[in-house]
This record gives sequence, structure tokens and C-alpha cells, in this order.
Amino acid sequence: MDYDVLVLGGGIIGCAVAYELSKYNLNIAVIEKEFDIADDISFVNTSIVYDGSETSNNVMAGLEYIGNILLEDLCEKFNVPFRRIGSLRVVNDDNGVVKLKEMYERAIRRGIDGVYLIDPDEVYEIEPNINTEVKKGLYSQNVAIVAPYDLAIAYAEVAFDNGVNFRLEEEVLTIQNVTKGFRVVTNKNKFSCKVVINTIANEIYINEKGVVEEKDSEDGINSFKNMSYILLDDNYENKLQRIVTKTFDKDTFVVSTPVLNGGSLIGIKSIEKTSLDDNLQYASKLLKELDKSNINNLFRESYDKDSIVVDDQKIDKGYISVIGTHYGKVTLAPAIAKMLCDTISSNLNCRLKKNFIDKRREFYRFREMDRNEINEVIKLDKRYGKIVCMCNNVSEGEIVDSIRRPLGARTVKGVKRRTGAGFGNCHGAYCNEKIIQILSRELDRKFTDIVDDSKNSNIISGRIKEFKDI
Ligand SMILES: Cc1cc2nc3c(=O)[nH]c(=O)nc-3n(C[C@H](O)[C@H](O)[C@H](O)COP(=O)(O)OP(=O)(O)OC[C@H]3O[C@@H](n4cnc5c(N)ncnc54)[C@H](O)[C@@H]3O)c2cc1C
Repeated sequence: MDYDVLVLGGGIIGCAVAYELSKYNLNIAVIEKEFDIADDISFVNTSIVYDGSETSNNVMAGLEYIGNILLEDLCEKFNVPFRRIGSLRVVNDDNGVVKLKEMYERAIRRGIDGVYLIDPDEVYEIEPNINTEVKKGLYSQNVAIVAPYDLAIAYAEVAFDNGVNFRLEEEVLTIQNVTKGFRVVTNKNKFSCKVVINTIANEIYINEKGVVEEKDSEDGINSFKNMSYILLDDNYENKLQRIVTKTFDKDTFVVSTPVLNGGSLIGIKSIEKTSLDDNLQYASKLLKELDKSNINNLFRESYDKDSIVVDDQKIDKGYISVIGTHYGKVTLAPAIAKMLCDTISSNLNCRLKKNFIDKRREFYRFREMDRNEINEVIKLDKRYGKIVCMCNNVSEGEIVDSIRRPLGARTVKGVKRRTGAGFGNCHGAYCNEKIIQILSRELDRKFTDIVDDSKNSNIISGRIKEFKDI
């Protein structure tokens, strides 16, 4: 067998599973078709960590509750930004009050702690900047925010340091059941393995007869395509400090989330396609004195309300798939990974590694350090004295480290995700070219070969004039 376990897909779920399994004496590989892991998590490095009170699905609620608890410890261990800021859900009509009461009672029945049904004066005390009349609020004090790229990258770095083989730029084409295991065929190789964990099961899965089928990712998924996002500048003065949701009807809500490195993300969910003016109007029902000059960026995304199924019906044959999309997959990832790991380790009867290193290699983040600490680092390496991203205060030393680390960045987006360079107000206008230069030097590749994110996303197409021609 080439591998004991093959994990298909290097998203947050694949990386979390790889980390948990790397604690055992197993030969593991993760196969990811893109240039980098965690390519698809979120456009701002902030995700909500739910507590299990908002979902109507009891299984998802249980996994969220466990994920919420596990994430705090993991983030502390891996030095990943995590803040328990609490969430507030507000309504201003009688129907809304009934719904909030139902949510509260359901949370109590589920045993979720830190959930309170509160009156308007308590709402305004918790969130004085809220711009709406409130009849009732539901406060969940354990809801948090986390940096999802950092989390996925931390999981993967530790798994890599503990022997997991990350096969990037390799696309899984087929999975075949063979005697005592599986054969996984990619665009580059054929591998045999005892166990397959398929986290790309929305795209490729094995049917009842053991034949691989491509699946329509919309199949059976309650997915609304109309989630619009407005990213607000950090200098917007009336920023809300908690995650605040105002519900208008069963299909429409607006949610404001503080972003970990500054600013706020406003999400507007509606079944109709909303214009920028519509979105600003919805947002203004929650936020004071908001106008277009506060906007830093705009996005539109799908809103996935589907539940996730961890299908282990074929576990006796060594096949587990994670099916479905969900708006809280970052929260669910640690719980799903632990669950899968327990099943596989007992099925394969494997032992914990004696030399497992449960630690991420250290790094410097200048924006979190004081002047004395920064000066100490610059004394050791002069490249830390050259600032590349002025908006987010990222030095050349940090960028070089992000490339040379285990599973280092190989694309401009990879550097941005790992360091925060280019995610500031100028959107990379000042630093993009410098990042390309550093990548080209460190990877010993031509300037023109450096890609933004994926194959064929080269940024610089050629020289305007070759010097040798002059
Ligand atoms: C707008 C938005 C906001 C969100 N906000 C939150 C939030 O606040 N809180 C929260 O908990 N969650 C949130 N989520 C959910 C979460 O970010 C994603 O759902 C999650 O990252 C998905 O992880 P995954 O590992 O399942 O899938 P993916 O990240 O899609 O990973 C699958 C990986 O498999 C690779 N792949 C696909 N096909 C193949 C193949 N044939 N061969 C090899 N590799 C392949 C892909 O390139 C990908 O990297 C949000 C999602 C979105 C879109």
C-alpha cells in the first residue's frame, strides 16, 4: 500500500482531519488540486464560531457546540486569532419575539450555556451603537470569531511537520474499490491506500456499486445564492462590537461581524438579488450613519444552509465521506475531524506516535508586537526592517518566512493569507509587485511565472521591452 489514509481535498475539513490523524503511526497524504491548501475558505480572514443555538438541526447543533469548545484551545495552542465576542440577535415585532423565544427554549433544551433572552435596555447596554428599535434580543455569549485561513494553515503545518504528505496541484479523478483498500487515480499518479476520507464528496463520490460518480454540488442543497457582503473600513465610527443579526422575515436578515484585523463585515441575506443601494438600506437598519464612503469592498456569495453528513456506511471497506455544505463548516471542522479520527484509529487499530509535536513553528506578526520587540527581531534579520505592506505593517522578513515555512506560500494570495499583506485599504496596489519580486527570488522562478492564486492566474504577462534588445 502507498498510504494508510488518503485525505481528498485540502480545505479546512481535510486539514483538520490530517492534523488529528497525524497523531497516529499512519502513513497519510492529502491530495489538493489547487496550488495551496485552504484556498476557498472565506474572502476576509474572519469566520463566526457558532455555539449550536442558531441552527434548527440538532446534529449540527451538537457538532457546533463541541467545535466551539475545541477551537478556543486549538487557537491558543496554534497562535491563531480567536475572540469570544458574543452574538446578539434582535427583533422588533411580535412575530420575531415568538421566534426568539423558541430559539432560546431550544438552546436551553440542548444544554447550551451562555444564552440569554434579554430586554431592549440590556441590548443597548451590550451594543450601544445599534440603530434599530428592539423588542427583544437573544444574547449568546460564547459565540466567537476566528481567523479561518490561519486555522487551516496551522492545522496543515503541524500535520506536515508530523509527516503528512501534502500533494498539491494534483486532481483526484477516480476512486476505485480494490482488494483490501482503494486505488485513487489523480491527473499525475495512481495510489493504493487502506482508507479514503473524501472531503470533496460533493464533487466525487462512490455509489452503491462502488463506482465513482461526479455529483452536482447543488443536488439536494438548500442554497440561496443571494448573500451580499459589504466590507466596512476600520475608520467607520459606529462599528458594532458583537456579531449582531437583525431578522426582517424568514428569508431576509442582515448581520454585522467585526473583522479580526479591523473593519466590519456586513452580510445581507435575501431571496431577491439586491443592489448596492438595497444592501446599504438593509445595513442602515442596523448601523448608524452609514454611507458609501465607508465601504472598502463588496462581494456576493452563496449562503449554504445544508446540513453536513459524515457518511461512514462503507467504513468497514475503509471509505468515509463528508457530504454537504454548511455556513458553519469552520466551526464544525474540529468536531468532525475528531470524530473521524476516533473511528479510523480504532478501525485500523493504530497507536499514537511517541514523537508527535503538537506545536506550530513560531513566526513574527509585527502588527501584534510593540516597538522594542520589533527592534529585537530587526537586529537578528535586517529583512524585518523593510516594510512591504504599509496598510497592514507587514515586513519583508514576514513574507520570506511565509514562503520558507512548512507548506510555504507559492502564490501571491498564499502570501497574503499567511501574512495579511495586501488586505489593507489599498488592496495591494502598493505591495503586489514587491510580493511578486520576493516570491520570484525565493522560489527561483521567473517574475512572469508567479501566479496570483491558481493555474494560469499569472499577474505579469511579460516585459514591456527586453533589455538585451536595446
Ligand atoms: C461567504 C462564506 C462565509 C462563511 N462564513 C463562515 C462562518 O462565519 N463560520 C463558519 O464556521 N463557516 C463559514 N463558512 C463556511 C466555510 O468557510 C466553508 O464552508 C469551508 O471552508 C468549506 O470547507 P471544506 O473543507 O468542506 O471545503 P473546501 O474548502 O471547498 O475544500 C475542499 C477542497 O478540495 C479541493 N478539491 C475539490 N475537488 C478536488 C479534486 N477533484 N481533487 C483534489 N482536490 C479537490 C478544493 O480545491 C478545496 O480546496 C463560510 C463560507 C462562505 C462561502
